[in-house]
Amino acid sequence: MINFQLLRDDFPILQRTNRDRPLIYLDSSASSQKPQAVIDAITHYHANEHANIHRGVYELSERASIRHENVREKIKSYINAKHSREIIFVRGTTEAINLVAQTYGRSHFKAGDEIIISMMEHHSNLVPWQMIAKEAGAVLRVIPVTEAGELDLAELQKLISPRSKFIAIAHASNVLGTINPIKEIVKLAHAQKIPVLVDGAQAFPHQTVDVQDLDCDFYAFSSHKAYGPTGIGVLFGKTQLLENMPPYHGGGGMIASVRFANTTYAPVPQKFEAGTPDMAGVVGFGAALDYLQNIGMNNIIAHEKKLLDYASEKLSEISGLRIIGHAQHKLGVISFVLTGIHPHDIGTVLDHEGIAVRAGHHCAMPLMERFQVPATVRVSFGLYNTHEEIDALVSAIHLAKRLFA
Ligand code: PMP
Repeated sequence: MINFQLLRDDFPILQRTNRDRPLIYLDSSASSQKPQAVIDAITHYHANEHANIHRGVYELSERASIRHENVREKIKSYINAKHSREIIFVRGTTEAINLVAQTYGRSHFKAGDEIIISMMEHHSNLVPWQMIAKEAGAVLRVIPVTEAGELDLAELQKLISPRSKFIAIAHASNVLGTINPIKEIVKLAHAQKIPVLVDGAQAFPHQTVDVQDLDCDFYAFSSHKAYGPTGIGVLFGKTQLLENMPPYHGGGGMIASVRFANTTYAPVPQKFEAGTPDMAGVVGFGAALDYLQNIGMNNIIAHEKKLLDYASEKLSEISGLRIIGHAQHKLGVISFVLTGIHPHDIGTVLDHEGIAVRAGHHCAMPLMERFQVPATVRVSFGLYNTHEEIDALVSAIHLAKRLFA
């Protein structure tokens, strides 16, 4: 039995204050806080182990290279990829999606082709497709979202046609918390030989991810939302697809040989990893995965589900408060609006009570339009949150109501 209350002591930032109140951090969907083990691993790396990888002939560099590749191996096992070469280190989810749009997309999409995304996509899984569609003369098609905040799969079936060339879809929504039925979508897509990219930015830190079970072609995620450092993330891609894609960035480390007349490229994953990577970030991400594995994802899922259920119940009791998104399968993310008070004003009142939430469009403007709201307040949980923090949130919302009455 994991004592989640005790785990809070692993996160030094939770000891500090926000506006002279104990910090109540309810914005883990934007970025999670970091346990001491991750901070220590990065510090230890800089103090004792740093050297550029894949280049030096000396011991320190060799050791750094081995450590880097060990983390790749760890991530491969963590998401159950078939091969470690399917794990490409990138800056984060955004870069992973841009990589696929600019390499796979540029070499495959033609005028009249259709790329299917959904109405609940983060701008990171929308704008890159819009950009490449514009360049290729392709068209974006959009899966609608139901009033409950779920994907309308019947509409997806209607959208799929011989013109469909790609599907890019979030595993979980950063606004609604909805966990999408990726396996089902991949089955529908593969029946028509359409590859699927999954934006795993939100799901990866809070769910078990098995890319072979999902059978998706690409899966993108960021370390900083999963208790690891910023600046590092992963693109998983199936070997055959990656091998047939042109490189993204040119530079050191991604070549086999360079002549002025012609350059040949290194095999995957190096083909997609030009330049000196974020080696300290990789070490920190490895430590974050160890931390998560020690707790156990099933324990985290159960804990966050309890927080979600409790908060959903308590928030629903507040008159004038409307929760947006009532999907059957949800992460610990709740978006809401309150009659007569702008989300930014609620955010400001909560801030003065020490409570950090997000207020805005959450990089999902089309979804705001769908629900006819300019913005929402978003509360999102991490493994360190408690029921008492939810009680404090509810009290602070009542305070906002009194102040703006
Ligand atoms: N997709 C989703 C669903 C997200 O929530 C986010 C981050 N808010 C991203 C993509 C982008 O992730 P990053 O900023 O780490 O690249």
